[in-house]
Amino acid sequence: MTEASTSRPFAAVIGAGPAGLFAAERLAAAGMRVCVFERMPSAARKFLMAGRGGLNLTHSEPPAGFLGRYGAARDWLEPSLRAFPPEALRAWADGLGAATFTGSSGRVFPKAMKASPLLRAWLARLNDLGVTLRPGMTWQGWDRDGALRFAGGEAVRADVTVLALGGASWPRLGADGGWAETLRAKGVAVTPFRAANAGFDVAWSARFAGRFAGAPLNGVTLRFGAMAQRGEAMVTRYGLEGGAIYALSAALREAIARDGAADIHVDLRPEMSEAALAARLRRPMAGQSLSNVLRKAVGLSPVAVNLMREAGDLPRGADGLAARIKAAPVRLTAMQGLARAISSAGGIARDEVDEGFQLKRLPGVFAVGEMLDWEAPTGGYLLQACFATAHAAASGALKVLGARAGRA
Ligand SMILES: Cc1cc2nc3c(=O)[nH]c(=O)nc-3n(C[C@H](O)[C@H](O)[C@H](O)COP(=O)(O)OP(=O)(O)OC[C@H]3O[C@@H](n4cnc5c(N)ncnc54)[C@H](O)[C@@H]3O)c2cc1C
Repeated sequence: MTEASTSRPFAAVIGAGPAGLFAAERLAAAGMRVCVFERMPSAARKFLMAGRGGLNLTHSEPPAGFLGRYGAARDWLEPSLRAFPPEALRAWADGLGAATFTGSSGRVFPKAMKASPLLRAWLARLNDLGVTLRPGMTWQGWDRDGALRFAGGEAVRADVTVLALGGASWPRLGADGGWAETLRAKGVAVTPFRAANAGFDVAWSARFAGRFAGAPLNGVTLRFGAMAQRGEAMVTRYGLEGGAIYALSAALREAIARDGAADIHVDLRPEMSEAALAARLRRPMAGQSLSNVLRKAVGLSPVAVNLMREAGDLPRGADGLAARIKAAPVRLTAMQGLARAISSAGGIARDEVDEGFQLKRLPGVFAVGEMLDWEAPTGGYLLQACFATAHAAASGALKVLGARAGRA
């Protein structure tokens, strides 16, 4: 049994993803002894995977818009996001030698466009702060005496515990949501996991899927009901994926669960009005096929022209064609599963934690990052909230310890 020290308080952080490592850094910087326990052979595998896409750390949009991305969880997360805002995350990355830049979309990335240099510098800093990292340690719950129990039988007693076990997407990277049953057994309400920021199935024709899987739809606007999202989407064999569709994915997921399918409309030339498109299409182009006319007169890519055809034969007149360009219908029939979703919805319910993310039923135990029940689109909002909740939980843990010391 590893015992909590009587001199310096001991924090056990479980899960070496960004949320756990950041909580560990804050607690160690405040003078605590800290050990991070991680089931995988190495730290932060999902963070490294996020680095393959450039590591979109956060977003530069003003606070009102930024906070709105958290939907129903906005007011829950707002205090922690204001206490640790995007500028603070950028300054932190800068301090680790990973200076950031803002892309044309407003997304913020490290200049190196990957996670590994930042992670290396971060782990070195944690080592300098005296944080111990113990890979290959799978947490299984608590024993009868309240000590943390790990596979293999080791028990660890901690003064405070930070659970940073992640959600349930991409389980092969380590976070599989298996902790949910352990917490439910303690009476903690955990909302079931659902895929978030994942692709959707579309019943493409074999010809379209075969020819265009992997083709990007750049600069399109996707519309679903009153919602509109400008950005990129990618045609895949199974359907559609990419940032624009991920941004609508929470609403689409709920609509499919309710109605069995969701119809979106793709505006293939958002920067041109329907009337302007129709006027261009009215100009005579003798001897040209319709596909060529659409490419030359309107600048549509082959994938865009063929996407229009997926909804049925192309309309004959200029007005009909312009209408189809502005609103090519696509029926989404299912969402991809958790195995390849970028994040998950669901997790520890909001009412279960206090303002410092301490579990009300388990005093001294905090929960941070994606294991909490919030969701957000891609764009840097996921990592930002992981860091912000970890920051708030570390402050909460220090407050709890301060109060205990005051009572002693
Ligand atoms: C392909 C991909 C690309 C992404 N790109 C971006 C991006 O560009 N920007 C962005 O904001 N977000 C991105 N994300 C999402 C982001 O990576 C996650 O939101 C973030 O990693 C969650 O951090 P976390 O610390 O809460 O959980 P995780 O990173 O999942 O870490 C949890 C850790 O806990 C460990 N663990 C779980 N159970 C146990 C147990 N019982 N015992 C011990 N250890 C355990 C896991 O092994 C894991 O290491 C991406 C995700 C994916 C999959």
